[in-house]
Amino acid sequence: MHHRPLPFDASLVEKITTAHPTPFYLYHEEGIRQRVRDLYEAFSWNEGFRQYFAVKATPNPHIVAMLAEEGCGADCSSPAELVICDRLDIRGEEVMFTSNNTTSEEFQAAVDLGAIVNLDSPHHLGQLQTLPKLPKFISFRFNPGAERTGNVIIGDPQEAKFGCTREQIVDGYARCRDLGIERFGLHAMIVSNELQVESLLATAEMLFELAVTIKQATGVAVEFINLGGGIGVPYRPGESEVNLAEFGAGVESLYESIVVPSGLAPLRVMMENGRSITGPFGYLITRVINVKQSYKRYIGVDATMSNLMRPGMYGAYHHITVLGKEQAPTVDNADVVGSLCENNDKFAVDRELPEVVEGDLVVIHDAGAHGHSMGFQYNGRLRSAELLQNDQGEVRLIRRAETLDDYFATVEFPEAPAPRLASSGG
Ligand SMILES: *Cc1c(COP(=O)(O)O)cnc(C)c1O
Repeated sequence: MHHRPLPFDASLVEKITTAHPTPFYLYHEEGIRQRVRDLYEAFSWNEGFRQYFAVKATPNPHIVAMLAEEGCGADCSSPAELVICDRLDIRGEEVMFTSNNTTSEEFQAAVDLGAIVNLDSPHHLGQLQTLPKLPKFISFRFNPGAERTGNVIIGDPQEAKFGCTREQIVDGYARCRDLGIERFGLHAMIVSNELQVESLLATAEMLFELAVTIKQATGVAVEFINLGGGIGVPYRPGESEVNLAEFGAGVESLYESIVVPSGLAPLRVMMENGRSITGPFGYLITRVINVKQSYKRYIGVDATMSNLMRPGMYGAYHHITVLGKEQAPTVDNADVVGSLCENNDKFAVDRELPEVVEGDLVVIHDAGAHGHSMGFQYNGRLRSAELLQNDQGEVRLIRRAETLDDYFATVEFPEAPAPRLASSGG
């Protein structure tokens, strides 16, 4: 069983539910911190290595602040994410603004924070020139298009809306240099949820080589290479963790063979991981409220797809255990379902699980990234609370559950109920 032992047991969770009813997210503090330390250790050969946490994965200020304590910057792609940084006093080069289809107002917010602005395309330079001041530090997002196919990718790069071509990038740095911008980086993110070190290394190789090309073509020497995020999570039993030490050593050897001979060293390596940092250390805890047998067996829980949409949206696998029944024999396969009026509101389909009864606590694993943050309110279902647990068993509420008042806060109800049509007596 590859899934690490749970940092809690049934009795602790039962205790938590007396103050915080299910469903809720529970994050494990030491797990998250240790993952970041392992990443920094793997890149300790690179002076100035920095991980920018992709805020969209788990946009909770407590999580972002905890990661800042571990030395992480923040990778933002929207105004709300910039607000989190501003409120936490994370600014300047600690912030990477990697957006796409961006407005001038959004660039302004990033420049106000002093963020490194990672441009999706040189088209945006026109917008930047309308701002009162230009960002000091720019990078560009490269999309290799047809140069890269066949690996596990966000989609075919040629079909991806992100980034720009080699020619646009070279032209973009030359234009920036002419505008007086002096500090540069280079970025790409072409893999997602990638468990193969080789595929992750392909991005590093591609970017190191492109940095050399840019230097030769424009004289611009980039200060950093941002490898993006994309380190995968072994969601399924049988999959294995990415060996971060092996990955770091692989990037080091590419650095030695490409960057050093070109005279571009020292070059900082940066990453924007989200999923691999918080994913494995967040659990969606939910309670069985109905067990039903029709044409198959359904285990109805009190969370819905609105709390965790990955299974419904991508068919993503999330491991599920029933607390206190970890060793129990499994019975027939069942679907684990929420209560939305949507048939893809399922956390698992045909899953082998032990016999469950109403009231059992169910743990949905690896939900710490792109989980709560993708929540929505369809069917008037509300987003759950988020709790942070440490190894002393202390649990802190870091976001309360939404209430019906929150749900209706934006609605204008009519002053008085609309008059009913009189019955025509037909
Ligand atoms: C989503 C995203 C990330 C984080 O990706 P993970 O798969 O969560 O590591 C990093 N950078 C950019 C630009 C992203 O859009």
